[in-house]
Amino acid sequence: MDRKAKNLVYALILSLVFSFLFVLPSLALDIPVRVLVYRGKEFTISGRILSLYIRGDKIQEVKNLCRVAVKLDTVSIVLDIVDDLQNTEKLQIDYRSILEITGSDISINGIVYRGGFRIINRNNSMLVINIVPLEEYLYGVVPSEMPYYWHQEALKTQAVLARTYTLNRIKSGVGKDYDLENTENSQVYKGKSAEYSSTTDAVNSTKGEVIYYENVIANVYFHSTCGGHTESPKNVWSVKSPPYLNGVECQYCKDSPWSEWERRIKREQWDEFIKDSNIELEINSSGRLSRLNGIEGTKIRSIFKLPSTFIVGIEVRENEVIVKGKGYGHGVGVCQWGTKKMAEVGFSYRDIISYYLPGVTVDAYRGF
Ligand SMILES: [Zn+2]
Repeated sequence: MDRKAKNLVYALILSLVFSFLFVLPSLALDIPVRVLVYRGKEFTISGRILSLYIRGDKIQEVKNLCRVAVKLDTVSIVLDIVDDLQNTEKLQIDYRSILEITGSDISINGIVYRGGFRIINRNNSMLVINIVPLEEYLYGVVPSEMPYYWHQEALKTQAVLARTYTLNRIKSGVGKDYDLENTENSQVYKGKSAEYSSTTDAVNSTKGEVIYYENVIANVYFHSTCGGHTESPKNVWSVKSPPYLNGVECQYCKDSPWSEWERRIKREQWDEFIKDSNIELEINSSGRLSRLNGIEGTKIRSIFKLPSTFIVGIEVRENEVIVKGKGYGHGVGVCQWGTKKMAEVGFSYRDIISYYLPGVTVDAYRGF
């Protein structure tokens, strides 16, 4: 081989190596996410150039649709189909059928999503599952979890947290019908309908960035307002806490409307659960209520619908009980109102993540 040919081969090998290096991470980020967006017996799908693929007792494909009304009854799934020429057709199919929908700007009950859908029947309910590439899913999560007009570094913090959280859910979702729900049970996701350019910019400018701790994707959590100190997950869910979630002091969430709060509870409602008028509080290391007269703080929070377990005072009056507290949410991980303030005073999203989750690194996604 002469020198010219050799150089050509080297160049070819180098370009292959480089394209591999650059293509690999973006391939990884095209990972499909499966999000449950609706559970029920009746819903409407509409969109452009829809195709419906039915896997049931027989396989059928219906093309060029613009609208399908789906209804589950006791023995079958009834589909009222409207095609792009406004012709209508009614199909009755086996209740165990799986429906797959592709097309563009697909909406479910009026909410537009990216990606496609899989629809399955589980326990006499239809599950509508949006299947969407990870980064496009995040476009719909960030504005649903944080106001779009907050500082760009705060939005970037939320984007990296949401991406990290999602990858962990994909990992644990193997073998299940879906990876995440579209509510606070996982993280809020309102599809393409919720997108804003500021939040999309935050996703794009942190593309592929994930939070790691000792080379493993970190378990991340976030909440609205910590109230002065973040909480350890062992106090909330009785699970072992990794070192980066032990809790840190936070002086940044004082602008939150939930910085301090007061709840008035009717005395009779209080007495129903708290039999003794002597109140005994046990406070944990983050300053939150671990027990009240032996009842767990998290239970007290859910019984009386308190914003948090960060209780600073309880006053029992004749007709009512006044509970005073700080913060909103479970308090674990990143404090969103604290993030807002840190961003405004000049910290970068990487600084903010390192502050709330000490010891972690933000790195390009490199597998689980
Ligand atoms: Zn805070």
